[in-house]
Amino acid sequence: MSVEHFDFIGAVDTYFDQAAAHTKINKGILEQIKACNSVYYMKFPVKIGNDYKVVEAYRAQHSHHRMPTKGGIRYSEHASQEEVMALAALMTYKCALVDVPFGGAKGGIKINPRNFTEGQLQRVTRRYAFELAKKNFIGPGIDVPAPDMGTGAREMSWIMDTYVSFNPGENAIGCVTGKPVTQGGVRGRTEATGRGVYYGLKEICSYEKDMKELGLEPGLEGKKVIVQGFGNVGYYAAEIIHDNGGIIVGVAEYEGAIYNPEGLDPRAVLKHRKETGSILNYGNGAKDIKDSLSCLEQPCDILIPAAIEGVITKKNASKIKAKIIGEAANGPVSPEGAKILTKRGIMVVPDMYLNAGGVTVSYFEWLKNLSHVRFGRMNKRFNQASFQNILGVVEDFTGRTLTDKEKEAVTHGGDEIDIVNSGLEETMIGAYAQIREQLKRARNVHDLRTAAFMVSIKKVASAYENLGVFP
Ligand code: NAD
Repeated sequence: MSVEHFDFIGAVDTYFDQAAAHTKINKGILEQIKACNSVYYMKFPVKIGNDYKVVEAYRAQHSHHRMPTKGGIRYSEHASQEEVMALAALMTYKCALVDVPFGGAKGGIKINPRNFTEGQLQRVTRRYAFELAKKNFIGPGIDVPAPDMGTGAREMSWIMDTYVSFNPGENAIGCVTGKPVTQGGVRGRTEATGRGVYYGLKEICSYEKDMKELGLEPGLEGKKVIVQGFGNVGYYAAEIIHDNGGIIVGVAEYEGAIYNPEGLDPRAVLKHRKETGSILNYGNGAKDIKDSLSCLEQPCDILIPAAIEGVITKKNASKIKAKIIGEAANGPVSPEGAKILTKRGIMVVPDMYLNAGGVTVSYFEWLKNLSHVRFGRMNKRFNQASFQNILGVVEDFTGRTLTDKEKEAVTHGGDEIDIVNSGLEETMIGAYAQIREQLKRARNVHDLRTAAFMVSIKKVASAYENLGVFP
């Protein structure tokens, strides 16, 4: 499938301007918030066999109003300066929205990782990390990368190792997040973005009045869902929604799509893809759709684009049948597409909110690295003993004794994964409450994205007032 050129930075700026027009913030401050503070463009050679390949790469730091800056690194043939600048801007607004105290950043390396061996990828990644370190573009208090499209825990461990070799220090491993748990990562980071998508959609679907306006029943259970992109974000979103009563009816990948109105099992689809190299020919009652993009137009309640930007535009927005579009990817809906969807009464849940689970749990990982202690280590046993004491009193008082299983459920102290997931859920619920409240209060604002931008812009503006301006 092909997606035509998408003006990503233009889209982010359009959304920003639409929201800024509803605020009373000083024009100069708005201009500063919108501007990308610094971009580092680099070219470096990597030896591949007997040949040398010149690799192009970028790191954009959109806003320094909070330090460090933070954002993923993407490996993609389509990586460009405009793309990383747009993604870095989104990171600024996203961090502000979910109260993660970072400025926004993003990196990109212009390669197709599928065309490289593991050894070659390691060489490219380490050289990129070295270039960032050389220019002071990485560090636990400066700029902290994380995974994005085409990268994961493995790449993050290479980056950490390269950085730490040149900059040892007690906080050095906080230079990057999304690391393997055995190397300073936090439990729950791998699936955090997908889990955040689930928590966000669950919260949105819990408002009976809002669901009624969309012609839907409240609750995520039983809702039919199509997911585009079966990578880190899309797969975990599908798996967790499936495990909690949602019905995954469609999966779209670059090689094609599958659709079954009765439901698909995400684990079985992933296994099939690993074994055959494709989601097509999955069977089990699913039909193959050769034109992957057209899968987005199949019947469902919720459509989750979790692959790339610019997939819903004025060309296909009028054909979408979903009532809710959950932007798990960054920038999947163009401003023209969004206008058509809003006019049709379709709810678009913006990326800067819905995929903020990744950066939220990255923040937890960074805190863990700086504090040098695993979440739950200090208080798990203490909480467990306190709960047991309370339970003992209640048992004496009521004369009823709980079974061991019931006791475990009541007295369980939080492990790291429990604390991380509960912190993530709290963040997603709290941020949605702010967006919804802003939407209710603002006059002539009819969509969640404009409301979310308004919340973020106000927060960043208040951080800028009287700061960063030298006399
Ligand atoms: P990924 O590389 O793990 O997965 C992306 C998937 O999309 C791959 O399986 C790929 O084959 C598929 N894909 C690519 N082009 C496609 C197309 N044209 N049609 C259908 N499928 C296509 O990447 P990811 O980390 O899951 O990121 C996906 C999106 O989520 C990106 O927009 C990214 O910026 C955003 N995001 C990621 C994170 C994170 O923590 N990884 C956090 C926030 C936002």
